[in-house]
Amino acid sequence: MNTHCLVDLALRSGVLLAGIADADALRMSPSHRETTQQTLPETARSVLVLALHHPMTKPELDHWGGEGDTRGNLSLILTAKIVAEKAGSELGIRPVPLGYQPEQGTFLKDAAVLAGLGVIGKNNLLITPEYGSRVRLKALALETELPPTEGRADFDPCSSCAAPCLTACPQEAFASGTYDRAQCRIQMTIDEATPLDPADPDGYNISYCRFCETACPVGRT
Ligand code: SF4
Ligand code: SF4
Repeated sequence: MNTHCLVDLALRSGVLLAGIADADALRMSPSHRETTQQTLPETARSVLVLALHHPMTKPELDHWGGEGDTRGNLSLILTAKIVAEKAGSELGIRPVPLGYQPEQGTFLKDAAVLAGLGVIGKNNLLITPEYGSRVRLKALALETELPPTEGRADFDPCSSCAAPCLTACPQEAFASGTYDRAQCRIQMTIDEATPLDPADPDGYNISYCRFCETACPVGRT
């Protein structure tokens, strides 16, 4: 079993991007160094990262409040289960799906960068060459040590961009030049107070702001 086999299995299972990150490198990633949260299983040697495309034509994938939080994340949860089962039957390994929040597993953006899926942009989001920031992520821990996948060394989208992401924010969360979580949280509270359809039987009725994501021209669809 090698890295290519596992990534290929993931891609055959319905995700559009997949890669492998080294678990020890992830434990030392910028977000991990800023927190005491270290819930990546101690036995993890590698992390498989899956990415699902969230195109602007399908905003409903991002609406919050129902099973799995969003329809997109529910799809990723189900796909991760399929990947784990196939990895067991086809490759003899047992990847363990991790949760969405850092305290449930790991920092997904850091894992994606270490797996070569993209870079962190000025909008504080993962930017992939293929789909820009319009992806959602899921990680699975592996006890098998695998070589990490590598991304495009020449991919540096922010260096030649006028950065519309920084001025798109309704709360001016990038006014200082870096992301201000507290300002973003103000907008989230507004979004939570104005549900799309409180009667939605599936409960996906909160549409959080995505302006810093959708303003980015990379991979726009
Ligand atoms: S809009 Fe430009 S500066 Fe902002 S994240 Fe995208 S590529 Fe980078
Ligand atoms: S999600 Fe919206 S409020 Fe938050 S930083 Fe991005 S543009 Fe600003």
